[in-house]
Amino acid sequence: MSRVAILVVAGGVLLALVMGSGPVNSPRANSPESAPRAPAIAAIKQPKAPTDPKPTKKVNCRRAKCVALTFDDGPVSQTTEVLSALRQRGARATFFVLGNEAVHNAKLLRRMVREGNVVGNHSWDHAMFTRLSSAAIRREVQRTQRVITAATGTTNNPVRVPYGENDARIRGAVTRSVHAPTVLWSVDPLDWKYRNSATVWRNVMRAVRPGAIVLLHDIHPTTRAAVPRIIRSLQARGYVLVTVPELFNGHLKAGRTYFRR
Ligand code: ZN
Repeated sequence: MSRVAILVVAGGVLLALVMGSGPVNSPRANSPESAPRAPAIAAIKQPKAPTDPKPTKKVNCRRAKCVALTFDDGPVSQTTEVLSALRQRGARATFFVLGNEAVHNAKLLRRMVREGNVVGNHSWDHAMFTRLSSAAIRREVQRTQRVITAATGTTNNPVRVPYGENDARIRGAVTRSVHAPTVLWSVDPLDWKYRNSATVWRNVMRAVRPGAIVLLHDIHPTTRAAVPRIIRSLQARGYVLVTVPELFNGHLKAGRTYFRR
């Protein structure tokens, strides 16, 4: 009896998702070349919707207590551990990928998007943009964007500059490269420094506030191991775990920089 009830609820959630796809980062919404064929594509893809594994419904972060987990420097093959933890708990996140890793992991990028997550652009090879010419910055950003678009169909994905280096010249170069917002963070648990899952978890939980953007790195085993506990603890405190575009209800503006809601 209860199993049937759960199935019905899950079906309702899936239906709600199919109806309410977000405007930012949606492959169909942002891909001009697919626009004329949109009705045909929708007709073909619709029968697949009930098996779509996207776990949660649309959230209004003006009312809900939202937080955006972000994962930088991947993807690596073990990023699947993070994706599975998110999916199991009905959570979503944003993955700021490096082009030179993403190019070997197109399947992972597709899974991210399929499961409701957002892929962001973290440069090609994590160069220090302060040491690059504006033309070189542009190549870093555009080359990575091409890899993301080839894998997922999404365009103008949010950018996170390596090391958060975001002075006026870099901002200008990024803005001329892609029509996208820059996303930094408000909570940094220093997971690259404290290679200890309990410490990473504690640092996140101490600093988190509604509307926070949390900086994590899926390349570290200690961080990946901390993710299930971070998700559980945040949800126990009433947080809804969303992507960065969802955190701003889809109203991110190209050329602007965001640290938190
Ligand atoms: Zn990084």
